[in-house]
Amino acid sequence: MYQLSVLGSSWQSIQHITFNIQNKMYRSHTCGELRITDAGKEVTLAGWVQTVRKFGAITFIDLRDRYGITQLLFGEDLNGQLEANPLGREFVLQAVGKVSERSNKNPNLSTGDVEIAVTSFKILNKSAVPPFTIQDDSDGGDDLRMKYRYLDLRRNAVKKNIELRYAVNRAARNYLHNNGFMDIETPFLIKSTPEGARDFVVPSRMNPGEFYALPQSPQTFKQLLMVSGYDRYYQIVKCFRDEDLRADRQPEFTQIDCEMAFVEQEDILNMFEGMVKAIFKDVKNISYAETVERMTWEEAMWNFGNDKPDIRFGIKIANLKSVFTRNGAITATGELINGADFKVFDEAETVLAIAVPGCSEYSRKQTDELTEWVKRPQVGMRGLVFIKYNTDGTLKSSVDKFYTEDKLKAIAGFANAKPGDLILVLAGTEDRTRKATSDLRMEMAERLGLRKKDEYKLLWVLDFPLFEYDEENNRWVARHHPFTSPKPDHINVMIDNNPVIENAAEYLKHPYAEIKANAYDMVLNGNEIGGGSIRIFQRDLQEKMFTALGMSDEEAVHKFGFLLGAFEYGAPPHGGIAFGFDRLCAILGGSESIRDFIAFPKNNSGRDVMMDSPSTIDDKQLTELQIKTDIRK
Ligand code: ASP
Repeated sequence: MYQLSVLGSSWQSIQHITFNIQNKMYRSHTCGELRITDAGKEVTLAGWVQTVRKFGAITFIDLRDRYGITQLLFGEDLNGQLEANPLGREFVLQAVGKVSERSNKNPNLSTGDVEIAVTSFKILNKSAVPPFTIQDDSDGGDDLRMKYRYLDLRRNAVKKNIELRYAVNRAARNYLHNNGFMDIETPFLIKSTPEGARDFVVPSRMNPGEFYALPQSPQTFKQLLMVSGYDRYYQIVKCFRDEDLRADRQPEFTQIDCEMAFVEQEDILNMFEGMVKAIFKDVKNISYAETVERMTWEEAMWNFGNDKPDIRFGIKIANLKSVFTRNGAITATGELINGADFKVFDEAETVLAIAVPGCSEYSRKQTDELTEWVKRPQVGMRGLVFIKYNTDGTLKSSVDKFYTEDKLKAIAGFANAKPGDLILVLAGTEDRTRKATSDLRMEMAERLGLRKKDEYKLLWVLDFPLFEYDEENNRWVARHHPFTSPKPDHINVMIDNNPVIENAAEYLKHPYAEIKANAYDMVLNGNEIGGGSIRIFQRDLQEKMFTALGMSDEEAVHKFGFLLGAFEYGAPPHGGIAFGFDRLCAILGGSESIRDFIAFPKNNSGRDVMMDSPSTIDDKQLTELQIKTDIRK
């Protein structure tokens, strides 16, 4: 019998599972396993040399493997051998000896009560001096760590992320398996049908001049599986998108991809809220008892300025535009507020405000600094107006010369502020102001410590617009993807109206702008972790959708003829969702970066610096593929 410590159901607690192994040649125990109750046992350990410490005639070595660290004690009798075979960091060592109680115990190590009094040892392999030390705080720097990722992965800090990833994977699989889902693989070499992101393409040697594409997601395959009757499908699967890598994106990433037949939106929401809760329970031991909150896309955009709001805290955005018009608005106390010849507000397309609790006493320096913050190019505003709603009920603002205190009070009312709040007001064009106010809301919450790491708040965002306007090509594009169904009572709006946009500047007035989709996103702490939709499953409606997206009938058949064909042979109603697996792991691991949770990630330019990929290929390969390139590196 052999004891191997493996990841338990809660990833923080490493559990021990006992099972038989054939090969006992190298070790009887792992380096994380021995306890004081093992004292007296003869054991053999194998692992990597973490540190060598010499005290006079005795040498201590910390031996490390995936499961932990055990201290080895080499007595005087082994000195000669050690001198003949000097040990260095990261040497692979096998040591035989007796477990004994340590005089100087280390409470920070699970094996810290014992050490091995070594009787013999063998160097299984030497190591070059590693470019950085294998410890929690790496001295490697990002580039070096990625170049030597196989060493970086030895570090505890990285290992625990990889363990967490596996725990999330297992929890998802268990849940889906227990609910009747089947893991069915779908191909990686598929047809290029770019919609949304760019495809990665792969030349076909056997079909010169032709290319496969790597899937951006298994979307059409999972729908075909529904047509085939596999009514609950899942896959934890690689997806490939050739996008310019914005912060923290990877060209290849992993999704928990799911599809169900004979379902409505409500079924999907229930099933997958269950999955995320099961993951919380298994991985973090968190019981997420409450039902997941729901919000329409419109509500999210109006109240929080974006479609993935962090609802761990309030600070809703108030739209003050109606207040600053010539006609003005009537306050709760009957007072009329209107334009005050403060052009910034009166002439702006929109005026938005947030009331930040407990900040009315911000100093001039602090408000100046906030003003600079919103003026940064990433936020892009021209300025910031603030109104301090003091705890004594008085008000002071940066626009005192335009508004009396009474009017400021009324504005504060419209902004849902209370004494003690600092009201921050931004004005400008609709999209930019909304985004900037949303960014400012997040920034203030961060500063106030309202984005707590150990608090998790899920949210469903529903009723997304079906279409988005593509300015560059003056046409409609699918906001989710072209297989998403419109809300049943919006189908006719799509069918009955010509998709052509006559006046690009007024695209919002086109009836398509109002059509909502049967689509939903799951949001966790301000991050979109999953998204999906109820699909179109009738050929004629799918054809109408392609037309709406500006595709000719020929093009639709060329790209998606297989799907249209399948819809003629009894396609059941179906819908699904896909979760961003890397992101979910990162959030549960309390990190901003998905790269930390991928064993071999690419850098921000999409390069694997360890393999030095992408790379040129030799002329023979190019000739076989019948590809000519003018670029020579
Ligand atoms: N395939 C979609 C995506 O990758 C998800 C879905 O609709 O199921 O975003």
